[in-house]
Amino acid sequence: MSGQPGLFLDRDGVINQYLFESVRSADQFQYYDGTPNAMRLLGQLDCPIVVVTNQSAIGRGWTEASQVDEIHHRLCQDALSWGATIRSVEYCPHLPDAGCACRKPGTQLFERAARAHEIDLARSVMVGDSPCDMEAAERLGMTRILVETGRGETPRSASLEVDARVEDLEAAARWIEQHGKLNR
Ligand SMILES: [Mg+2]
Ligand SMILES: [Zn+2]
Repeated sequence: MSGQPGLFLDRDGVINQYLFESVRSADQFQYYDGTPNAMRLLGQLDCPIVVVTNQSAIGRGWTEASQVDEIHHRLCQDALSWGATIRSVEYCPHLPDAGCACRKPGTQLFERAARAHEIDLARSVMVGDSPCDMEAAERLGMTRILVETGRGETPRSASLEVDARVEDLEAAARWIEQHGKLNR
């Protein structure tokens, strides 16, 4: 597929604090301290930014799509104020055992965004904190960056095969810049 490189970000545990029983409302959506500066750096990369997130809390009845949409509206506004344009937020609302194609490590969220924004996934980068993020990225031939925030802190993440392992989203932004990973 032709197109430009794109930057894909997971949400919980990367941009905002991971909660074991899910972020269920806007007041539970709390940014990491480094997120504003990370967004400033990512905005300078001059490539489309897309957020891809599993939100099974909707399927579980723990929250509603309207709550999730409200959070994503705020996220896009805040990112813009920090210097980064989020082109879209793609989420899977289904339960883990629903067998859908969109829940990561499924690749449908990525493919949908790639079509909408003319992104070449094989030249793109995924930043995530979970095995499912790294697995989806691997299936699509993307560069895999694991952050050590959120679930990236857990022992399980130590054994994951990734292209880079960094402290947090800010460090991921610096790594991408240094390695020229999203240059056109
Ligand atoms: Mg996550
Ligand atoms: Zn789904």
